[in-house]
Amino acid sequence: PQIPLIDLNDGRAIPQLGFGTYQVPPADTEKVVSDALEAGYRHLDTAQMYGNEDGVGRAIAASGIPRDELWLTTKLNNSFHEPAAARDSAERSLEALGGRIDLFLVHWPLAMHDDVARVWEAMEGIRSDFAVDSIGVSNFTPANLARLSEAGLSTPTVNQIESNPYFVNDEVRAACTDRGIAVEAWSPLAQGAVFDDPQLTALAEQVGRSISQVVLRWVLQRGDIVFPKSSSPGRMRENLDLFDFELNQEQMASISALHNGTRSGPDPDTFDWRG
Ligand code: NAD
Repeated sequence: PQIPLIDLNDGRAIPQLGFGTYQVPPADTEKVVSDALEAGYRHLDTAQMYGNEDGVGRAIAASGIPRDELWLTTKLNNSFHEPAAARDSAERSLEALGGRIDLFLVHWPLAMHDDVARVWEAMEGIRSDFAVDSIGVSNFTPANLARLSEAGLSTPTVNQIESNPYFVNDEVRAACTDRGIAVEAWSPLAQGAVFDDPQLTALAEQVGRSISQVVLRWVLQRGDIVFPKSSSPGRMRENLDLFDFELNQEQMASISALHNGTRSGPDPDTFDWRG
């Protein structure tokens, strides 16, 4: 499929739809990511925390796909926020991932332990000195983003945050838009919770598409970048097949109206796991 590109504030452009690898077991990762590349995904999202960068790297190497046709994101783990540790871990990720990273993110702010501006300065150094093309953040609150600009630092290209029908996260999304930061929506399918929803079941029937397709289409039409995870090749293809239909305004609004403030994952203001 023709996947739209989203312009980032550093002049680069990222495919709006990709493939997520959270909870893909390390031993299965090479196979699962190979299947995803075979299905047509060209944007992969992994993290040091997931323990599966090696498998992602092997799948990329085995695919024979020219590296500049791929977009690869990984994330700095919470225990490596100190500048020297951050640099060492970036080198290990580069090694595992074949020597180049398109986008390197601070995975969690951990603002109760660390100064996010200090972590971000380390990221700026990593981008200058290593084969890391763009840098961004994940799970940053508006206050965390404000801290970076108050410290006179550069603006992250993206903020990867939870966003799905039950937790739309529109305040953080608006703070990102105001600052020219692209939004990446994690757990778009609320880690599977959308599949039991009677309203989404009815809407999917009305549209003539699966629940997954309708929800992912909603994310895309909101302008966010998204990378659903699945280990089944059939579902991988289903989740790519989003570009020959559109939701109307009423359908979009009916999905947004499912918001009830229930998160699928941790709250960035209290998540303090350093692993
Ligand atoms: P998701 O919302 O993408 O849901 C995944 C679940 O939905 C899986 O159980 C999968 O089997 C099921 N599923 C997927 N497609 C389906 C389909 N077509 N039909 C039926 N079931 C289907 O959850 P996620 O993996 O948490 O989020 C996506 C990606 O976001 C992750 O893989 C990861 O890359 C990223 N992420 C980032 C953070 C962060 O802190 N930055 C946190 C969570 C996830």
